[in-house]
Amino acid sequence: PISGSAPEQGVSTHCPYCSLQCAMTLTPRAHAAGPVLEVTGAPFPTNRGGLCEKGLSAAELLGHPDRLTTPLVRDARNEPFRAATWDEALQRIADGLTVAQERYGPDAAGLFGGGGMTNEKAYQAGKFVRVALRSASIDYNGRFCMSSAAAAATKAFGVDRGMPFPLSDIARADTVLLVGSNPADVMPPAMRWFAAGRDRGATHLVVDPRYTATAAAADVHLQPVPGTDLALANGLLHLAVKHRLVDTAYIAERTTGWPAVKRALRQYWPDRVERITGVPVAVMERAVRLLAESRATMILSGRGAEQHAKGSDTALAWINLALALGLPGRPSSGWATMTGQGNGQGGREHGQKADQLPGYRMLADPAARAHVAGVWGVDPDELPQPGVSAYEMLDRLGSDGGVRALLVMASNVAVSAPRAAHVRERLRSLDFLAVSDLFLSETAELADVVLPTTQWAEEDGTMTNLEGRVLRRRRATDAPDGVRSDLAVLADLARRLGRGDHFDDDPRAVFDELRRASAGGKADYAGITWERIEAERGVFWPCRSEDDAGTPRLFRDGFPTPDGRARFHVVHHRDAAETPDDEYPYRLTTGRSRAHYQSGTQTRRTKALLDTEPEPSVDIHPDLAARLGVAEGGDLLLRTRRGRARVRARLTPTIRPDTVFAPFHWAGEQTINDLTNPALDPASRMPEFKVCAVALEAATTR
Ligand code: SF4
Repeated sequence: PISGSAPEQGVSTHCPYCSLQCAMTLTPRAHAAGPVLEVTGAPFPTNRGGLCEKGLSAAELLGHPDRLTTPLVRDARNEPFRAATWDEALQRIADGLTVAQERYGPDAAGLFGGGGMTNEKAYQAGKFVRVALRSASIDYNGRFCMSSAAAAATKAFGVDRGMPFPLSDIARADTVLLVGSNPADVMPPAMRWFAAGRDRGATHLVVDPRYTATAAAADVHLQPVPGTDLALANGLLHLAVKHRLVDTAYIAERTTGWPAVKRALRQYWPDRVERITGVPVAVMERAVRLLAESRATMILSGRGAEQHAKGSDTALAWINLALALGLPGRPSSGWATMTGQGNGQGGREHGQKADQLPGYRMLADPAARAHVAGVWGVDPDELPQPGVSAYEMLDRLGSDGGVRALLVMASNVAVSAPRAAHVRERLRSLDFLAVSDLFLSETAELADVVLPTTQWAEEDGTMTNLEGRVLRRRRATDAPDGVRSDLAVLADLARRLGRGDHFDDDPRAVFDELRRASAGGKADYAGITWERIEAERGVFWPCRSEDDAGTPRLFRDGFPTPDGRARFHVVHHRDAAETPDDEYPYRLTTGRSRAHYQSGTQTRRTKALLDTEPEPSVDIHPDLAARLGVAEGGDLLLRTRRGRARVRARLTPTIRPDTVFAPFHWAGEQTINDLTNPALDPASRMPEFKVCAVALEAATTR
């Protein structure tokens, strides 16, 4: 049952989980235990009424018995939490941040945000750190999600909008290549667009070390060794050149940098690429012809290709292929990345990143600082310079030059960060830690102060989906007594820090300020109003004025680069940061499963999802399992240079025999990110979640 009052009729909003942001209706229903909200899929251009099991069960979270409804504090780290008033909890946070800054300097106080926060919260978090704290220390968990593809798109096209076209264009493409993306499991309602294309006769190809549900629905599956996608993309482009399949007119008219790329491709001869990737030359030959000889081709990238220490270069390699085939800007064609988190797109546009200001402006750019400082009513010289990225911030917590007092919002880094056991140790070393969350997450368990926050159906605001379409999140019920929005928390803290004049806690007022701050930037929201979003079923940015219809499709007439051309980049294959050896002889790759989401803070508490998937399992090939003496359902001990985990084995021929796959949604001895490698991509600071060397052994069954 919901704890607030029930609405009198159904309320339209969007799912709290992934970036597809499926539309749903929340309708009040009577129940013996009190009013509940029933979730049904709503007609909308993206999901057309479809919802996956996560969206359908989301209302379970509203009245969940684990829900935090009062601030918690503890008087010493080894003491239990006790309930506190909001005044005490907020003053403790203001004091904790202030004391750290007085002792160690302004950057010793910081904020770690999340890609699930509304645009308004993400914007306000960035402003709070720069204006109220005057600190450089802010970054967010989207750094672990989208940063490498974002960096690549910015370099190649001049702007990062995950999908530069509406999702529905997928149905009109004749050939679609998905690289490291598995929408059939993680975004099922999106599959209707792929299915519609297949019904028209389209051909689909999937690149994935696993034979996923998405691969099973495709025509061609390329199964590379994890961490070799870049070599595969270069190999395909080598073949396209060899067979004269590249679009020379497009390259001449719309791009720069091709001659150097063409020269560099000479070393990616097919036999060598087959040796690196494990993909047979004949399969590559077939794939490149399918891609090049179709009327409309799309290349869609996902975390499998991007979460690597060479993630940006890998995304650039696929973009090179798309440019050489003349795809970006053409109808039903192009390159796109399928963003993951609910507001993964909007969350990275408005200043949560260490180096960015709202509208994708760069913090180091004097003109950008002047514009945003003008909107914020502060002197540009007061704004700090860029800080360090997410993992670097976490790695240095509590140490010289690092953050000493941290506020975490909408993120559970104790489970979701790479080398998570080390991150938990760093969190424990802080002088002060405050966490705002719905539940006592694994990160909140380590805090000095925990704040109970509102959730999706209890708040108004906006989200930006994977297409760059700005949507309205609508309040359907009141939050339980004792719970406050993060916007109210930031405004109150700013007041206690002496900067309260600059902060509003009304989401519409914050959105209107965001519009002004983003005006003239690449992610320009100036013309987007809540009324327009309502009337037009979302508005695509850039939207520069209220007369501007918004921009569903980018790049048709040029790229937002100084000369209007897209850029090729020379990128070369290199080994993963860690490759198998005698001690750690196999590869571990990680990802999401169908029933769970991110660090599992919400989905591990949802009965309907636990009924489907009560615990994690590791995918292991039967041949490898036989060599290790592991039976179906038996416990497997996974060990890397950073830690160990113990998870049940699921024997499946769908995975390469040299690789195991594990989902990262679980905690305790099943915390897979205790194993993952924090080696960082030099361009984007993306950690290498998707491949590391692992030792495996059968464990005694529990
Ligand atoms: Fe929610 Fe994503 Fe499932 Fe849609 S696909 S219902 S947005 S989790």
